[in-house]
Amino acid sequence: AKQEGRNQFAMYQSTFDEGEYKRFLFKSQFVKALADRQFYLDYQPRVELDSGEIQSLEALVRWNHPDQGIVGPMEFITLAEETGFIMPLGEWVFQEACRQIKEWQQKDLPPVRVAINVSPKQFLQPSFVNKIKEILRVNDIKPSCIEIEITESALMKDEPHIIDALKVIKGMGISLSIDDFGTGYSSLQYLKTFKFDALKIDRSFIKDLPQDKALTKMIISLARKLKLKVIAEGVETHEQHTWLLNSGCHQAQGYLYSKPLGASDVEYILNE
Ligand code: C2E
Ligand code: CA
Ligand code: CA
Ligand code: CA
Repeated sequence: AKQEGRNQFAMYQSTFDEGEYKRFLFKSQFVKALADRQFYLDYQPRVELDSGEIQSLEALVRWNHPDQGIVGPMEFITLAEETGFIMPLGEWVFQEACRQIKEWQQKDLPPVRVAINVSPKQFLQPSFVNKIKEILRVNDIKPSCIEIEITESALMKDEPHIIDALKVIKGMGISLSIDDFGTGYSSLQYLKTFKFDALKIDRSFIKDLPQDKALTKMIISLARKLKLKVIAEGVETHEQHTWLLNSGCHQAQGYLYSKPLGASDVEYILNE
């Protein structure tokens, strides 16, 4: 029976397409990769549109895979969410970002806040808030050094649990942003149930600027009326920058200012 099982596996594998094969491979390697420290964080600066000053850094996870080279989060976050691996991975991301903040503080670099992406799956763990508190305590980090980004789609799940967790997190003094704003949902009800600090306009809107501007204009005006900071994602051109600046957008992130950087490059630019 054992032999037969092996043959079946070989047959199954031969019908995998490349994408399926990668999913299979990644799934089986996640836990070991975390233990072997194959994951690391890059940091992308977010700037004030008027002064160009760096306001914060977004932590973005990468996988330095032994055979595949550097693998971006688009290739494994969804899979990590489906398999539950996002819990230990997300906790590692939080821990690593806090460790890095502490290291920068000890090196006397100008203080800069770090924004961390948190998956809705993580919010649904009852222990999530306590884990955050513990990580901040162990690393001796002020909650104001941290920002959490949660996607708009997560908020639309209408999970009372997520809103409760957000309230506690906000009460601790951690800033909260809505990520990927404008992508695919019609109800804005959650903007009434909870007071966020910032809203990040999804790159799909920014890439069509300044030609196709009606929706971006509307989002900026909505955010400003709600007294939220409004941030443009994926700014790549000077034309986009100028239009956003003149349209009342507060901050921006994108290749025009900087690609995501390794920790040592961050130190370099913060020291400049
Ligand atoms: P996101 O949170 O919307 O992050 C922004 C993504 O846009 C990043 O891709 C960034 O490298 C990319 N980007 C920034 N500026 C530009 C630009 O000017 N042009 C273009 N074309 N792209 C730009 P990345 O690093 O591949 O991350 C993709 C997504 O993976 C993130 O989207 C986020 O949803 C997710 N992600 C990354 N790190 C984590 C994490 O630690 N935890 C969780 N749960 N999700 C993460
Ligand atoms: Ca984000
Ligand atoms: Ca985003
Ligand atoms: Ca996105």
